[in-house]
Amino acid sequence: MTKFRQCLKSEISLNSLIKATIEILKRYHVDHKLLDSQRPAKNNETNIWNRIARAYFKRTEYKDVINIYSWWKRNTKGYRKFIEDSLPSIPESEEEMQIDDDFKSIDINISKDEVSILKSFILIYDYSSQFNSSFSDFLSEKIQEKGFSCWVSCRSNRFKKRFSQKKKSQYWSGTYQCIVPNCRSIYKCVIDDTERNKRTNHFSNELCIKVTFEKKNDHKKATKVNRCSGYKRQRQSEIVMGNGIVNTIIENTIHNQENQAFLDQKITNRFTLGMMKSALKHFYKISNEAFVDALAAKNLTDQIFSESETHLKGYVQEISLSPFGFLMLSQIQVNIWSSIKKFHSVWYFDATGTIHKKIANQRKPFFYSIVVHDVKNKVFFPFSEFVTTAQDQTSISKYLGLIKNKIQKDMLPDIIVVDMS
Ligand SMILES: [Zn+2]
Repeated sequence: MTKFRQCLKSEISLNSLIKATIEILKRYHVDHKLLDSQRPAKNNETNIWNRIARAYFKRTEYKDVINIYSWWKRNTKGYRKFIEDSLPSIPESEEEMQIDDDFKSIDINISKDEVSILKSFILIYDYSSQFNSSFSDFLSEKIQEKGFSCWVSCRSNRFKKRFSQKKKSQYWSGTYQCIVPNCRSIYKCVIDDTERNKRTNHFSNELCIKVTFEKKNDHKKATKVNRCSGYKRQRQSEIVMGNGIVNTIIENTIHNQENQAFLDQKITNRFTLGMMKSALKHFYKISNEAFVDALAAKNLTDQIFSESETHLKGYVQEISLSPFGFLMLSQIQVNIWSSIKKFHSVWYFDATGTIHKKIANQRKPFFYSIVVHDVKNKVFFPFSEFVTTAQDQTSISKYLGLIKNKIQKDMLPDIIVVDMS
């Protein structure tokens, strides 16, 4: 393996590589110090290592990019040292030098009032939280106030963990990129750890966001992109989950006004909907293993509905491993049914295969649902549901039997409507 690597390396001529590197650094006005912080990125034409590799090999293959990067990292044949030693002498045009000096880094000072706005942008799932997309707009407005024309979107951002041992790491750091296709300038932002109130792990009253960037671009002033965020996004993801992506797109196109902000993202529309669906799907999931997830849900709901007056404990009732399946029924549903039953004593029973994820080495899980119709309030209501991977009479009648056993006899309906398809 080592021999093979050496063989690969020897294919590169040091002189030509140095020539290609210097040419690229000059052409894109990149400081060679940035080479250290940049890592190769697959399929990213603007990545500096991709550019150097393309200049040298006259083609873009990721293995070439990695190869050159490893030359740099290991200072093979003195490649790195040569670049570092020779670069300060590279002539740069007067103008660019000036821009570099003036704008290499800016401070954005956040007032006391604005700090409270900032707090509303934090996603709180746990201590390793981050700023949400609204912060990108906030930051964009701030950098435009400083005379920039870029509008940025987030590539990554993260708060330091509360009990982090890394003394040197920043309280918050993020990478933002201009949304204008020809610009794509990178803005690296940090909030220094000194800005953190260590006792509460919150911001101090006023703070400063340090923003560093490659160069100041002068394209037309970019403006905000409409986003589907917050409550609206949550609602939209529920709709996607229920109706599917294509149906939601059709629905949104018809009811254009209501979803105007969302539809404006024409290019990302389908993709965004897919992301939303997947995010919602995974948000409440504890484990990738359906059985573990079902068991965790059972333990959790057992605790929620365990008051003494309920006859039926919890929500997830029975879990079986193989064939996989579980039953969902709660006392609350039984109570609601008991009042609906007086006016419309019918169960509507049906199944679908699109709801539950596949279980490895088992047949397709079907989701069976008993829905009741509250004719007074004109709403449909799920009375009980179950999932099973065995679509046979034994399994289905087992679950229906369980439901029958768990409720009182007078709770059974007069009519059961079944789809015969
Ligand atoms: Zn820009």
